[in-house]
Amino acid sequence: MINYKTINERYKNGTSIKDMSAELNISPNLLRHRLRNNGFRLKSYTEAFKLAGNSNWKGGRHIRKDESQVFIRKNGKQRLEHLEVWEENFGKLPKGFVIHHLNLDATDNNIDNLMLIKIGDHLNLHKRFNQDRIRNDIVSFAD
Ligand SMILES: [Zn+2]
Repeated sequence: MINYKTINERYKNGTSIKDMSAELNISPNLLRHRLRNNGFRLKSYTEAFKLAGNSNWKGGRHIRKDESQVFIRKNGKQRLEHLEVWEENFGKLPKGFVIHHLNLDATDNNIDNLMLIKIGDHLNLHKRFNQDRIRNDIVSFAD
């Protein structure tokens, strides 16, 4: 029986999900999922990165004005945060794929909010979201 309260305490104090999931012999994603289901808040990537005392961390997280992208600095280079988070967890992004934000908030780069999707499927998905929004606007206008 896993004591999630203890796990969460250790997590808050900087022990990584990766390390603890290896200890518990479950996947990092499953551990994240279970922590959330037990009502614990997961750290943002930026928080986790800082806590881990990453020597590459130069501080700074820059959100574009339109909130469509978040940049971070790594090894002196500017990188897209969602790509860093993805690659940190799963390795290099496969060719022809992009990352979709499940809750449509591009500033929420928690790993649980990121989904790997084919470029074409991603475009179609957003086209559909836009059509739904327009349709909803028309409906509310007609009301
Ligand atoms: Zn998307």
